[in-house]
Amino acid sequence: MNELAYSLILFVLALGMAVTLLGARQSPLVPFGLAMPQWAAAVAVTPLGLVLMTLGRTLNEPWFLLLGKGTIAAGYALFVGALIRAVGMRCSRRLRLLVFSPALVVLLASATYLVIEPDQPLRTGLLSLVLCGYSFAAAALALSDLHRGSRFTLMMLAGGFGLAGLVQLIRGIWLAGDPASYVTYPLLERALLSIGVLAPLGTTVAFALTASNRLQAEFAHLAHRDELTGLPNRRAFLRQAQRLFSAARPHRLAALVIDIDHFKQVNDRLGHPEGDRILARVAGTLASCIDPGDLLARVGGEEFYCLLPGADLREAERVAEAMRQKCEATFAEEKRSEARVTVSVGAAVYRDFDEHLNALIERADRALLAAKALGRNRVVTDAQPLRTTAVPGKIVDLRQSSRPS
Ligand code: GH3
Ligand code: MG
Ligand code: MG
Repeated sequence: MNELAYSLILFVLALGMAVTLLGARQSPLVPFGLAMPQWAAAVAVTPLGLVLMTLGRTLNEPWFLLLGKGTIAAGYALFVGALIRAVGMRCSRRLRLLVFSPALVVLLASATYLVIEPDQPLRTGLLSLVLCGYSFAAAALALSDLHRGSRFTLMMLAGGFGLAGLVQLIRGIWLAGDPASYVTYPLLERALLSIGVLAPLGTTVAFALTASNRLQAEFAHLAHRDELTGLPNRRAFLRQAQRLFSAARPHRLAALVIDIDHFKQVNDRLGHPEGDRILARVAGTLASCIDPGDLLARVGGEEFYCLLPGADLREAERVAEAMRQKCEATFAEEKRSEARVTVSVGAAVYRDFDEHLNALIERADRALLAAKALGRNRVVTDAQPLRTTAVPGKIVDLRQSSRPS
């Protein structure tokens, strides 16, 4: 009776945990999709199987025992299925069948042994051997996802299922080798079975934490990435640029400000969705012109900032010109003239009197304005004396004008 009370308490606690997980799933933000309710079902079903098995033993009702075995195996299959979804594998019908068929085998084989072959040695050990297979599969799935989630939670998942697998292996081999021994050592046998059921339940916290970590990582990604182009956004740029700026002093650093020419017309004539596609393509083209240590970000509508650590003016000009030419070439083949977009680029290099990153960006921005004024689709550096159309006849040396008076 004690044993029955224990398994019932375990079941009620697990049910509470399952309901909590399902409640968390109500939030549209919780990741993993169907994995979460599947895990919740596994949490409830596995101890239910233990209750049925205990009832079968207490009432000496072999059909309850058999149903209990099938239910525990189904619970394990649900754990494995949930992990398959959580690691992002496609859960095809064939894979689902593959995952649930061992549980079905347990049920059918146990029924066969019960009716036809009560003395079959595998009768008592089969469940544990199948659970062992499930446990090691679950541990392997958790380990396969190590590179993505938090090391701690995934190690807990892998550890919990590894332990369950080991315990079930011992119980399976022991009982298959000596089927009558569970009568001789009932406590040991039940303890092993309980550990096998408790260990996966214990990993539920790790599973929920993995979901929460995944969500946090997604938020961090969204907070620092521009969704349309996949580039860092203004916030991410400022954070990283400040670091590059501090590291660059008193070394070399160049800034480029890039803006798509006449982009309003592109939107007006081709529509916003097409404008979006062009914007993303321009971003990809710009990104293909920089090195891994450089920083490129979309900081506003159709404007990009780029920082080139270690670059002098010549290098900055080279990268800027490569960006301009590549954009021009990329869209040159377009049938509709509106889609043949180009970019203008303003470039500036770090100077000793630059107290702040803003000073460098401002000079690059001013050079960009000059590039626009000169007719667009060109590169202007803050070191060039320029004739702007804004002030006819006046030579503007951007370098002079950027010095503090
Ligand atoms: P200029 O050569 O002087 O830069 O001319 P422009 O038309 O590119 O500049 P302006 O600042 O007048 O217009 C920028 C346009 O960029 C306005 C807006 O419709 C478009 N734009 C800004 N953000 C987006 C976006 O996310 N998607 C699309 N499709 N268009 C955008
Ligand atoms: Mg523009
Ligand atoms: Mg602009």
